[in-house]
Amino acid sequence: TTHDLSNRTAVVTGAASGIGAATAVALARSGAKVVLLARRADRLAELAAGITAEGGQALPFAADVTRDFDTAPIRDAFGRVDMVVNAAGVMLVNPFTDSRTDEWARMLDTNLAGLLRVTDTFRPDLVEAAQEGPADLVNVSSIGAHLTLPTFAVYSATKAAVTHLSANLRTELGPLGVRVTNVEPGVVDTELSQHIDNPELVAQLPAVFAGVQPLSAEEVADAIGYITSLPRNVNLPQVVIQPTSQF
Ligand code: NDP
Repeated sequence: TTHDLSNRTAVVTGAASGIGAATAVALARSGAKVVLLARRADRLAELAAGITAEGGQALPFAADVTRDFDTAPIRDAFGRVDMVVNAAGVMLVNPFTDSRTDEWARMLDTNLAGLLRVTDTFRPDLVEAAQEGPADLVNVSSIGAHLTLPTFAVYSATKAAVTHLSANLRTELGPLGVRVTNVEPGVVDTELSQHIDNPELVAQLPAVFAGVQPLSAEEVADAIGYITSLPRNVNLPQVVIQPTSQF
């Protein structure tokens, strides 16, 4: 489905794959200019070429959300940003007793501090844009924010933090006209679980999700297109999106 996002300019983090990539495509098809932000430049170039080939506008922007980056190329290409979709994230699950402090640091730096860095970077744009039209901050959290599961302690903690952060940011940004939406997907078919550094846990995944038909990244992207194309006075603060068969 396309939504009306003409005259909008979005930065989508995590755009190299999965939910971020699908969201970038969906927003571009709805008429938005999209900045594709992730680390893998080759993936971003390929995606940008695909979007351009179908008549959309995309800027590949290779950056790491755990580090500061220069936004000059974004301003030069597209000017002011009025939508930020924070989809960059990593899910590195392992038993807590394995003390994978390296993984904890990566998840905290990417899922929480990285999201904060990107949000802080574009916050002045969003606030300014909100004076003239819609402005959106969309944070991709997870139903993991509310789950208590073995091996998920730190991942779930980062997502609980994102969910709570979104709700609190909304109290400051909403009155300034910036919509804040926290999206909590259930299981989505993406590359997310490919980074799990534990063959035993990876082998167990199919059994954990037996009977569940995962959402496609495109289905989540369509919801984000809907959320951001609503009349500017209408905000969905919290959107949980799950496969029908997942409880
Ligand atoms: P993917 O692994 O396919 O996508 C993750 C994206 O994040 C990639 O584009 C990756 O690109 C990017 N990324 C990772 N680290 C960084 C970094 N340091 N800087 C910039 N970009 C980075 O998985 P999903 O699409 O599933 O994940 C997207 C979001 O959705 C995540 O926040 C995840 O937690 C959340 N989510 C996913 C669910 C699922 O079942 N799949 C369920 C609930 C939530 P690159 O490596 O090139 O940087």
